[in-house]
Amino acid sequence: MDSEAIRGRENQRDFRSANGRFFSVLSEASGPDGQLIPFLCECADALCHESIEITTTRYGDIHIGELDYMILPGHTRIAGEEIIEENAYYEVVKKAA
Ligand SMILES: [Zn+2]
Repeated sequence: MDSEAIRGRENQRDFRSANGRFFSVLSEASGPDGQLIPFLCECADALCHESIEITTTRYGDIHIGELDYMILPGHTRIAGEEIIEENAYYEVVKKAA
């Protein structure tokens, strides 16, 4: 794996863990579900600070799979990773194991 791909993987991990902490705080709060929450785009671009607005329930569903993450449509993926779901708002990508 080249250094670019390694850096991309680290970025994905950082964004995902930041979102994960945010998600647990939100899940514990007794706010109404169905509300759109701006989660960070989890793409491989270190300079990307855009957000994806989805509900906490949807966020949880996407991240049940350890290898699954979400990015804005067209954002940087690492070669070999597969889009498993896409719509107008986000793409769900499965990391190459
Ligand atoms: Zn992005």
